[in-house]
Amino acid sequence: MEGGGRRRVVVVGAGLAGLGAAQRLRSHGSLRLLEATARAGGRVCTRPFASGLAEMGAHWIHGPSPGNPVFLLATHYGLLGPKAAQEENQQVEAGGHPPLPSITYGSSGRVLSPQAVSEAHVLFDTLLASARACQGAEEPLVPSVGQYLRAEITQRVPALGGGEEDARQLQLAVLAACLKLECCISGTHSMDLVALEPFGEYVSLPGLDCTFPGGYSSLPDCMVSALPEGTVLLNKAVRTIRWRGSFHEEGDETRDFPIQVECEDGDTFLADHVIITVPLGFLKERHQDFFQPPLPEQKAEAIRRLGFGTNNKIFLEFEQPFWEPQQQVLEAVWEDESPLKEPSTDLEANWFKKLIGFMVLQPPEQHGHVLCGFIAGKESEYMETLSDEEVLSTMTCVLRTLTGNLHLPAPRSMLRSQWHSAPYTRGSYSYVAVGSSGDDIDVLAQPLPEDLEDPRPLQLLFAGEATHRTFYSTTHGALLSGWREAERLNQLFDAPSPAPQL
Ligand SMILES: Cc1cc2nc3c(=O)[nH]c(=O)nc-3n(C[C@H](O)[C@H](O)[C@H](O)COP(=O)(O)OP(=O)(O)OC[C@H]3O[C@@H](n4cnc5c(N)ncnc54)[C@H](O)[C@@H]3O)c2cc1C
Repeated sequence: MEGGGRRRVVVVGAGLAGLGAAQRLRSHGSLRLLEATARAGGRVCTRPFASGLAEMGAHWIHGPSPGNPVFLLATHYGLLGPKAAQEENQQVEAGGHPPLPSITYGSSGRVLSPQAVSEAHVLFDTLLASARACQGAEEPLVPSVGQYLRAEITQRVPALGGGEEDARQLQLAVLAACLKLECCISGTHSMDLVALEPFGEYVSLPGLDCTFPGGYSSLPDCMVSALPEGTVLLNKAVRTIRWRGSFHEEGDETRDFPIQVECEDGDTFLADHVIITVPLGFLKERHQDFFQPPLPEQKAEAIRRLGFGTNNKIFLEFEQPFWEPQQQVLEAVWEDESPLKEPSTDLEANWFKKLIGFMVLQPPEQHGHVLCGFIAGKESEYMETLSDEEVLSTMTCVLRTLTGNLHLPAPRSMLRSQWHSAPYTRGSYSYVAVGSSGDDIDVLAQPLPEDLEDPRPLQLLFAGEATHRTFYSTTHGALLSGWREAERLNQLFDAPSPAPQL
C-alpha cells in the first residue's frame, strides 16, 4: 500500500462538510473537490439584496461558544463582530431560541395582547422540553412530537385562557403558530413527521446566536482560498460513482483505482477514496443510480427513513418601515387556527398561512428596511412554484391583513429561497423522522465497504449535516462531519503499511 501522499481523494460537494474535509486532509497533492453548482458554500449562500445582504440559507451560528467549530473558525478568520467575541454572550443558554423583542399580529388586523401571547409561548416551550425528555423512553406513548404536543395541549384545553372561550381560542391560535415555527426549525412539513423518542438527541450549544457582518458566505470563501489553487472544481456535477472496481488511467496499467467518479459533463476522476457530502435530499432522489454498485440495503433504508424537509425565506424590502425601531420579530397568528384542528390541504388558497411571520434584518443602516419571512413544509414547496410577482402580491395582502392597514405600501422588492427546487439540494435540512432513529444517522455516516478486512478500505465516506447524530441540520454539524471523515482517512494514511504480499 502507498502512503497518503499518493492516494487520490475526491470530495463531492463544496458545502461546509466538503470544504472542512478538504481543509483537514493530509494528501493535498492528489485532492479534488467537485461541486455541481457555480459556487462553493452549498446551503451557506449570501446574496446582495436591498442595500445589504440576504442569507438564503444559514443565517446564524447556533450556539457560538468555544465548543462550536464554526464559531472558532469564523473567529480565526476574523469574520465575526465584537459582540460575538464577548464571553458573557458565549455563555448564554438560549436553547436555540434567542429572545428577541417581538410584536404579534392577529389575522383580524390587531396587535395581540403580549401577555396572552407570552402565556402560550411559555406553555409551548414547557411542552417542547417535556417532548425532548421522552428521549430514551422504551416505548413512547405516541410516535411523533406533533402527536405528543397535541395530546398534552388537549389535556390543558379546559384551563387555557382562564377557561374563557375567546381567550382559550387565542391561546390555541398562538400554539398553532408555535407549531409552525417548530416546523421551520426542524425543516419539516408537520411535527407529526418528527420522531418523538430521538427528538432530545439534538444538542443545543451555549451562546447567543450570532451572524456574519460580511455574510455567512465569507466563511466558505475563506476556506476555499486556504486550499491549494485548483483543488475546487465548480460546475462539476457528479453523475455516477463506480466503486469496488478496477480502473486505470489511459496508458498506465500499473496503478489500479477502486473508484471512478463520472461527471455529468463526461469528465472522469479516478480515486482511492471519495468523501460524499451531497445533501440527504439529493441522496433520497438519486442514490439508486448515483452509486454503482448500489448502496447496501441498510444504508439505502437509512436514506429513505431519515427526514429531509423544506424551510424557505422570503425577503421583503420596504421604502419605509411600518414597524417600530425596537421590534425585531413580527409574528403572525391566524386567529381561527388550533393545533387540535386538521390544517387545510388547499395549498393554492391557504399556503401563506404557514408563514410564521418576519424577522427584521439588523441593522437597518446596513440592510435597508428588510423583513425576512420563514415558511416550512408543503406550503413552502408550493410557494417555490409561484412567480416572484405572485409571492410579492400575496405577501402584500398578508401584511395588510395582519396590520389592518389596507393601504400599507407594497414592498419595493422581494427575494426568496427555493431550496426544494434546487436540483442538488432538494430541500433544506434533515430531521429524524417517525420510523427512523439516531442509529440511522450513524448508519448513513458509516464508510463503505463495511468489511474492515477489505484490502481496499474506506472507498466511500459520508459526511454532511445529515450524518451528525447530535448537530444535524446545522453548519457546525456539517463542518464537524467533514473533519471526522478527513480524520478517518488521515488515520488510514498514517497507519503502517501492511507487509508486501510475496
Ligand atoms: C433556509 C436555511 C436556513 C438555515 N439556517 C441555518 C442557521 O441559521 N444556522 C445553521 O447552523 N444552519 C442553518 N441551516 C443549515 C445549514 O445551512 C446546513 O446544515 C449546512 O450548510 C449543510 O452543509 P453541508 O456541507 O452538509 O451541505 P451543503 O451545504 O448542501 O453542501 C453540499 C454540496 O454538494 C453539492 N452537490 C450536490 N450534489 C452534487 C453532485 N452530484 N455533484 C457535485 N456536487 C454536488 C451541492 O451543490 C452543495 O454545494 C440552514 C439551511 C437552510 C436551507
